[in-house]
Amino acid sequence: MSRVYLSPPHLTGREAELVAEAIASNWIAPLGPHVDAFEAEIAAVAGVEHALALASGTAALHLALVVRGIGPGDEVACSDFTFAATANPITYVGATPFFVDCDPETWTIDPELLDRAIGERRAAGAHVRAVIAVDLYGQCCDYDALREVCERRDVILIQDATESLGATYRRTPAGAQGALAAFSFNGNKIITTSGGGMLVSDTGEWIEHARKLSTQAREPVAHYEHVEIGFNYRMSNLLAALGRAQLETLPLRVSARRRLRDRYHEALDGVPGLSFMPEAPYGDSNAWLTCVVVDPDAFGTGREAIRLALEAEDIEARPLWKPMHLQPVFASHASFGGDVCARLFERGLCLPSGSALTDEDQDRVVATILSVGRQRQA
Ligand SMILES: *Cc1c(COP(=O)(O)O)cnc(C)c1O
Repeated sequence: MSRVYLSPPHLTGREAELVAEAIASNWIAPLGPHVDAFEAEIAAVAGVEHALALASGTAALHLALVVRGIGPGDEVACSDFTFAATANPITYVGATPFFVDCDPETWTIDPELLDRAIGERRAAGAHVRAVIAVDLYGQCCDYDALREVCERRDVILIQDATESLGATYRRTPAGAQGALAAFSFNGNKIITTSGGGMLVSDTGEWIEHARKLSTQAREPVAHYEHVEIGFNYRMSNLLAALGRAQLETLPLRVSARRRLRDRYHEALDGVPGLSFMPEAPYGDSNAWLTCVVVDPDAFGTGREAIRLALEAEDIEARPLWKPMHLQPVFASHASFGGDVCARLFERGLCLPSGSALTDEDQDRVVATILSVGRQRQA
């Protein structure tokens, strides 16, 4: 039996064909027909006007902040319950993040708490310019509520959609809710280019500025002329070919992950001490990762015992994201709330959710979980 990974790359068909075609055409550079086509295809899937293919989702978040002029002296509100790649770019531009806890009903940033946090930071003299809201584990934030807060408070809404490609919010595709949004095609995401990302927006001017910045900010003249600081952030045509082949099967990937989530529910709903990430009523998650929360008293043992039992079976599972306010590197930053995501981190586990996971392997995951609970005596 081979190791069961959390969310490994899944090749589904035309990857080799499209990459071979890119090689045969000699378009190996960070520009070319596959880059242009991949941008147009992602824009269509996300329901936005403009898209820019980049080297990573982190680069997309970084450029979102740069093109909105966020820099030293500014503060940016950030989902507390996320991966560090959401918060790191805030520091790249010289701004300061502060963290806002999640709503226990969605695990995404709490709009009311965000409102209060912005008010308190401003009362303390802070120059709050933007919020980065994370669509966690494939579930969108409550964007109607967030947009109301952001408009009233005059802050820019940046959507970290790196985990939510293929999800919906009120029947619109994830990625269309923020003023700017970032996607990721890292190896563990729902589609992958081995590494890559996309910045999307309905505002062409921001995307065009980001496009220029992403290739060292060359001015449009024959020689190398620069009036602002640039980056080397473009996606290669070779990887865009890989991404296009992956994107062709996005609906199948989403339905495969949702099916796994439903099978986990069927097998584990009603087991004392186990509960799942709640599904928000306003949209459909892409079910990127299925997450359970373990109440050790009711289940009989804790999250870590389950993880280690799975590991002993050569099955990879991971604790939920460790909140940013608990990260040593952000310890000195302001944070609001924090108990909700701290408790989820303590008790939560991401289960194998790859779109190629077989029923047999998933059944092994379930059997291993049940074998360590109090249920086993029943
Ligand atoms: C994956 C991820 C990112 C970063 O994307 P990369 O492409 O790996 O740079 C940012 N935020 C969250 C929440 C992620 O899961």
